[in-house]
Amino acid sequence: MRGVTLKSRATAFACSAGALVFILSLVLGYTPDQPDDIGHISRALIIAILCGTMSWASARQTVATTATAIDTATDRLLSAAHGDLQSPVPADIAHELPDLAVAMESLFSQVRTNLDHVQTLALFDQITGLANRTSFCRQVERHLAERVEEGKAALFFIDLDGFKSVNDTLGHAAGDQLLARVAGRLREVVMAQVSAGSGDAVIGRLAGDEFTMFFPNLPGQSAAARIARAIQFALGERFDLGSQHVDLGASIGIACYPDHGDTLTALLRAADVAMYHAKHNGRGRAEMYTAQLALEAADRADLERELVLALQRNEFLLEFQPQIDIGKGSAVAAEALVRWAHPERDLIMPGSFVPVAEESGVIVALGDWVMDKVCETAARWAAIGISQRIAINISTRELGQADFFLRLRHAIATHKTPPAMLELEISESLAMEMEQRILNQLAALRRDGVRVAIDDFGTGYSNLSRLKELPVDRIKIDRSLVRDIATSAEARTICSAVVGLIQGLGLEVVVEGIENEAQIDMLRIIGCTQFQGYHLAMPTGELDYLDRFAGTITSVGPERQSHLLFLRQS
Ligand code: C2E
Ligand code: MG
Ligand code: MG
Repeated sequence: MRGVTLKSRATAFACSAGALVFILSLVLGYTPDQPDDIGHISRALIIAILCGTMSWASARQTVATTATAIDTATDRLLSAAHGDLQSPVPADIAHELPDLAVAMESLFSQVRTNLDHVQTLALFDQITGLANRTSFCRQVERHLAERVEEGKAALFFIDLDGFKSVNDTLGHAAGDQLLARVAGRLREVVMAQVSAGSGDAVIGRLAGDEFTMFFPNLPGQSAAARIARAIQFALGERFDLGSQHVDLGASIGIACYPDHGDTLTALLRAADVAMYHAKHNGRGRAEMYTAQLALEAADRADLERELVLALQRNEFLLEFQPQIDIGKGSAVAAEALVRWAHPERDLIMPGSFVPVAEESGVIVALGDWVMDKVCETAARWAAIGISQRIAINISTRELGQADFFLRLRHAIATHKTPPAMLELEISESLAMEMEQRILNQLAALRRDGVRVAIDDFGTGYSNLSRLKELPVDRIKIDRSLVRDIATSAEARTICSAVVGLIQGLGLEVVVEGIENEAQIDMLRIIGCTQFQGYHLAMPTGELDYLDRFAGTITSVGPERQSHLLFLRQS
């Protein structure tokens, strides 16, 4: 009786010790998703079993004569700790200590299953079942290291076109389903290529909607181009997601070994550069890497760095271009346009740096600078009795920032800017895609007095019923719509229909890009009164602007005169 109690206490002690050690080793060292997880878990388990068994055994040795079997069990556990999970538990353990033998077998089997599972998690993308980044890179590196044959290898960088909007509109579950379908089609492309003799390939999903493919053995670059066409064809077919049909496409960058790089890093970079080019040349394209593309990418990287420095050195400035109401004969608003006063070059126009700033994200800091400067200027104008609004161009990237409106309100509060002095210009495509959160914030700003305009109207695709629902006050018709209005009856018809529609929705119309009097004459007949363009005024510095469009020096009151004097001196 006493022996049984002792034995069960020893066993309980042993189990608790083992469990405690296991839990402690996990808590102290286990971090999910790290490549070392496999080793760590197995080590933790084995150490736990070892400790538990030794505690158990030492306790039991005092009540039984099974020292040899315990030594064998210790040895077996030590060999398991060194990685041997396959050899069977020795027979003498099973004979002397059958419970322990069963426990050891079952634990080894459990650890083996867990290891398999962790290995799968560590190497495969959960959504698509394709190799994840780590696994893809390892496999390509192994292929490159083991290459013996002549010939080319090709790496494809595939970025889906239009995936984000599917995710945004249909939700993440549909997005995941779509990614799995894309993976399925990529597998089919590889299978077709394999049966056509292109050798096996590795497919990976690097992140988000970025996929990669590596063919270790191709006859030449033309074979790579053919595979790219097959990928585009496969992904260009419509996807059916239950009741939804989705049209996607892909921008593909191709880099060939050894011409464009002989390491994985070099090939990935080259394929990425080529993919970027494909994306920016109108999407749905495949581009082979070239040295010229590399130069362009390097220039872009230089420009990105310079833009950050330019912000730190305060090299940006604003010019203002009036929007003139012909009926009233005066300016109603000024559009603020950013310029870069580069220390070694002429004034640089936004067309040369805003797109790069948008891609790199520098636009957020640059946009903050513009926002602050405009709020400060508008507050000064209001203080001297000028009621013209100042319009700020807002890029998609800025508006996408969760705290954009917070920062804008902060700038307004800092400078005590009357909200009615501000106007936000948002591009047509952005206006059509704005999510509810942004629409609500814009509506709130409008209630406070800020005006909202859609810029460059006519350059993108507009859903007219959506236009009616947007929180906007004004539409700026793009210059491309009015360029030929004085000479082309067709242009007149289109413009007249567009203007009628906008006014029919109760919105104001401003026409951009007015370059001659004939355009104004024609647009007045159509019913427009507000114009902006070189014919009326070029964008200009604040002082010149105020001089010309805030009333003449002689006609302004004493505060304005002293303000102008202050601006001239500063
Ligand atoms: P936008 O907002 O459509 O601005 C009007 C552009 O048309 C300005 O070019 C202006 O100088 C030009 N323009 C005005 N009248 C005429 C005309 O009669 N004929 C022609 N051909 N052009 C005319 P700019 O200053 O080079 O700016 C180009 C674009 O850069 C702007 O187009 C806007 O999208 C962007 N941009 C300018 N400043 C900013 C800014 O502060 N932030 C952001 N995010 N974008 C800005
Ligand atoms: Mg604008
Ligand atoms: Mg515009």
